[in-house]
Amino acid sequence: MTWIHPWTPHLFSFRTTRPKGFRFTAGQFARLGVEKSDGSVAWRAYSMVSGPYDEFLEFYSIVVPNGEFTSELSRLKVGDTLLIDKQNHGFLTLGRFTGGSDLWLLSTGTGIAPFLSILADPTAWESFEHIVLVHSVRHANELAYRDTVEKFAEHELFGEFAHKLIYLPVVTREPIAGHLSKRLTDLIPSGELERQVGLNLDLDRSRIMLCGNPEMVNDTRKALKAKGFQTSRQSSPGQIAVENYW
Ligand code: NAP
Repeated sequence: MTWIHPWTPHLFSFRTTRPKGFRFTAGQFARLGVEKSDGSVAWRAYSMVSGPYDEFLEFYSIVVPNGEFTSELSRLKVGDTLLIDKQNHGFLTLGRFTGGSDLWLLSTGTGIAPFLSILADPTAWESFEHIVLVHSVRHANELAYRDTVEKFAEHELFGEFAHKLIYLPVVTREPIAGHLSKRLTDLIPSGELERQVGLNLDLDRSRIMLCGNPEMVNDTRKALKAKGFQTSRQSSPGQIAVENYW
């Protein structure tokens, strides 16, 4: 562990050294291990926040009250050891899609993590005309990484593409002027999300990734299927890719 950044009492990010030979594609996750007081190791899946070219690994975590893994994790300090399974996992990657010109990245809570990794890699910026990043949280102080996203215009590599990014924070449990406040599962069927973004969800143009609360992922996928979108599979390319994640 090389760096720890608390966002709220329940949310924090951390960095580790990157083991030699640990390779991944943006959007994938790793299995992290922490040693418990009885000497056994607890493992949990975490998407990388950092990009495939970063020399460190960064992760974003919630502290689950009395959670076996996150309680141990949140006790670690800079300099402490974290285990990592060298195998990378997951299919929430741009390789799932063919075609499309608008990339929609729809997240709740810590589910924004893989999308930050995707935005830390040149592929998405070069491949799409528009990138829509929606982050739905309960309270405004949980809009982690807002600064990072809003400062892409100053980014030395991606600054020239920053005009492509439309960032839409959604805060559902407190009224914040100028912010959407309904769940994604309401914003999509009503058309409010498309109006707010200024783009239509379109079978030819849109490629959509969902990550976060498993119920949100399921229900949003249903709402998109009702509009004709299909989950992308190797045998039959579609427009949707998902990861359940907390
Ligand atoms: P969350 O409960 O999934 O909420 C994050 C966002 O997703 C909120 O905007 C929420 O809207 C929305 N959402 C939740 N279920 C949805 C659904 N079925 N369809 C569409 N949108 C949905 O995630 P979280 O706040 O990161 O909490 C994750 C877990 O940690 C939960 O078990 C929670 O009890 C626990 N926890 C959370 C906090 C906290 O302060 N956030 C603190 C301690 C523990 P709504 O506001 O309408 O639900």
